[in-house]
Amino acid sequence: MSTQNTDERLISTEVQTGENARANLPDEPVLAARGLDVYYGDDRALDDITIEIPKNKVTAIIGPSGCGKSTFLRSINRMNDQISVCRIDGELTFRGKNVYDDDVDPVALRRKIGQVFQKPNPFPKSIRENVTYGLEVQGKSATDEDVERALRGAALWDEVKDQLDSSGLELSGGQQQRLCIARAIAPDPEVILMDEPTSALDPVAASKIEDLIDELVDEYTVVIVTHNMQQAARISDKTAVFLTGGELVEFDDTATVFENPADGRVEDYITGKFG
Ligand code: ADP
Repeated sequence: MSTQNTDERLISTEVQTGENARANLPDEPVLAARGLDVYYGDDRALDDITIEIPKNKVTAIIGPSGCGKSTFLRSINRMNDQISVCRIDGELTFRGKNVYDDDVDPVALRRKIGQVFQKPNPFPKSIRENVTYGLEVQGKSATDEDVERALRGAALWDEVKDQLDSSGLELSGGQQQRLCIARAIAPDPEVILMDEPTSALDPVAASKIEDLIDELVDEYTVVIVTHNMQQAARISDKTAVFLTGGELVEFDDTATVFENPADGRVEDYITGKFG
């Protein structure tokens, strides 16, 4: 059963959207898709997606299971390259450059566009090594200051500063996810993609990640896939709603999408009529 159907909060139409100063900042696109189609073999997972994702804002991607949310996220930093049957048409640009151009190095791209996954996945290494990994794969040596900066940036430093050489796997689930965020920000990316980063966490740990996202966005652009519409409403500035068939049916300020959606299907989805 999908989580939407079991989450009674979603039945309420009274979704609280967060108010913040960022809402008044003009949108400066950093990522853009134009006519983006993604296929797995003959099956189309994304259908003609056109969207501009603004810098230093949180963009939430919501929609029912299988509508292509993860596929869209993976197409941004070319993680779909690793799926042999996956094929892309159309354009996806990062700072105006098509990420699928021949001269783009996907490894370098992923340093600029980091990713955090649903299940915390620290390496079976020390906390310090988890953080330094991102720098060392670039051939740079990581200093203690780099480690502290990334762990502070992920709101984890105070909890782990005396155990940097302990295994990352000894941390709680929420701490592990913040360690993965520290690993993602160590190479100083511009964009952080998050695929349901709190769905495997308890509510307290999830809430800490939500607070952290609110801080991260001062420095980074955040694109987050979430099943939890309350979460999208609370933490995002922009919301994109994908529906079955891989169609982007609405993209607007989060308050508009939740309070006054243009598309009736979005209203039905948000109010729990399907999903
Ligand atoms: P969502 O994240 O919204 O649940 P996905 O992006 O995971 O949706 O999936 C979109 C569609 O693409 C689904 O029909 C799914 O079965 C298909 N799909 C996803 N990943 C693969 C894959 N690696 N190989 C083949 N089909 C896939």
